[in-house]
Amino acid sequence: MTRTVPHIKVPADVERVVARLVAAGYEAYVVGGCVRDALRGVDPHDWDITTNATPEEIQKVFRRSLYLNHFGTVVVRSGEHDVEVTTYRIEADYADHRHPTSVAFTDSLHEDLSRRDFTMNAMAWRPAADGRAGELVDPFGGQRDLEARVIRAVGEPRERFREDALRMLRAVRFATVLDFRIDSGTADAIRESAPLAKTLSGERVQQEMVKILGAPMPSIAFRMLDDLGLLEALIPELAIAKTVPQDKAVAEDVFEHSIVTCDATPANDLVLRLAGLLHDIGKPATFADGHFHQHEFVGEAMAREILRRWRFDKETIVQVTHLIRNHMFWYQTEWTGSAVRRFVRKVGLENIPALFALRRADNIGSGARSPRMYALESLWERVQEEIRSASAFSLRDLAVNGNDVMTALGIPPGPLVGRVLNELFERVTDDPALNKREALLELAREISRRD
Ligand code: ATP
Ligand code: MG
Repeated sequence: MTRTVPHIKVPADVERVVARLVAAGYEAYVVGGCVRDALRGVDPHDWDITTNATPEEIQKVFRRSLYLNHFGTVVVRSGEHDVEVTTYRIEADYADHRHPTSVAFTDSLHEDLSRRDFTMNAMAWRPAADGRAGELVDPFGGQRDLEARVIRAVGEPRERFREDALRMLRAVRFATVLDFRIDSGTADAIRESAPLAKTLSGERVQQEMVKILGAPMPSIAFRMLDDLGLLEALIPELAIAKTVPQDKAVAEDVFEHSIVTCDATPANDLVLRLAGLLHDIGKPATFADGHFHQHEFVGEAMAREILRRWRFDKETIVQVTHLIRNHMFWYQTEWTGSAVRRFVRKVGLENIPALFALRRADNIGSGARSPRMYALESLWERVQEEIRSASAFSLRDLAVNGNDVMTALGIPPGPLVGRVLNELFERVTDDPALNKREALLELAREISRRD
C-alpha cells in the first residue's frame, strides 16, 4: 500500500526547541494532536514535544523554562509559542478508571506513543535537521486511519477504556468535531465499557461537553452517545427523554427535540447551547398528567443539578437556568403595553435577546415554520418599541432614586424608601408617561401620606 510521503511544516519557534534538545544529545519529536492536525491540513492550535530528556534535564537546556509540576511537563517559551515539552512516559495504575495514579518515565518513544488514546493521536514527527529529512513515526497506522477518517484505539480497546474512561467520550468528541467514524471494534468496546463513564470527574466531562457543544451539530454527538450507551451513563435525565413523546410536530421524542433545538442555537454561545440541550429536561418528570405541567421549573432545577455535576461555573449555571425557567411564554397580540413591560421586567432586559434566540431554536426544533415564529417577531418589535420609548424595566431606570425620595419626603433611610420606590416602579410600568422627576416626587408624597 502506498501512502503520501508526509511532510509537516513546523513553526520555526517550535523547531528551535527541538533543535536545542537534539544539540544537547536528546531525542525530540513533535507529537500528538499537532501532528494529527498538521497532517490533515489544519493549523495546530498548540505544539507539543516529546523527548527522552527528564524534566530536570529539559530545564537545564532551557534556563528560562517554566516547570509544570504535575506529570512532568515543562512549558518552554519560544518566540510567539508556548511549547509543552514532556518526557516519554507510560501511565501506570489506573485503579479508578479516572486518573493515572502515577507516571513512569521511559526512554522509548514507541512506549510513549503506545499509551496514547487513538492511532491518529499516536504519531510523532522529527523535523528535518543536519541534512536529514523529516521523519514520521507512526507505529499504529495513524496516517492510514486519518486518511480513512477512522477513530481507532491504540492497542486493545477494552483495556484502554478501562485505564481511562474519558477516552470513550473523547472518541465521540473527535468523531463529531472532525466528522470521522469510530472503528467498529473500538465502538463495541465502548458499548461494553460505557458504565465506567459514571466514575469520571465532572471537570473532565465538562471539558469534552464544551468541545462537543462547539461543533456545528452537537446532535451527532448525542445520538452517538446514545447509541454507545454513554448517554445513560453521563446524562440519564436526557436518556429517559427518548421514551417521552414530544407534544407536537416533527421531532418524535423529547430527546430528538432537545438535540435538534441545541443544533439550532449559535455554536459560539455556550450558554444558549446548554439551554437548548436542557430546556425540556423537566418534561419526562412532568409527563404523568400528559401536559408537562410546569416543566420549566422542574427543568430549571434538574439543569442546575446536571451543570453542577459537571462543575460549570456559577455564572453559566445562573444564565442557563434562568433561560430554562423563562422559556415558556405565550405571546398574544392582545397583550397590553403593560403586559409587555411586565414580561421584560420578569425576564430582565439584558436576557431578552438570549431568551428569544432560545425560543427561535425551540421553534426550529419543533419543526414549526409556524405562526409562533411571527408571534415571536412581533413581540420582539414591541419590546424594541418599549426600549425606544425609554420605559423603566428596573428600579435603576426610574427618574428618581432613593436619595431623591428621602429628601423630598424628609425621611431617613429605611424600609419606607424601598416601599415607595417599588410602588413608583409599579405605577411607571403601568404608565411610562409618569417616569418624570416631578411627577414621581409628587406621587411619592401621596404614597407616604397614604401609608
Ligand atoms: P485537541 O485538539 O483537543 O487539543 P489533542 O489530541 O491535542 O486534541 P490533548 O488533550 O491536547 O488533545 O492531548 C494531547 C495528546 O495527548 C493527544 O493527542 C493524545 O496523544 C494524548 N492524550 C490526551 N488525552 C489522553 C487520554 N485521556 N488518554 C491517552 N492519551 C491522551
Ligand atoms: Mg492539544
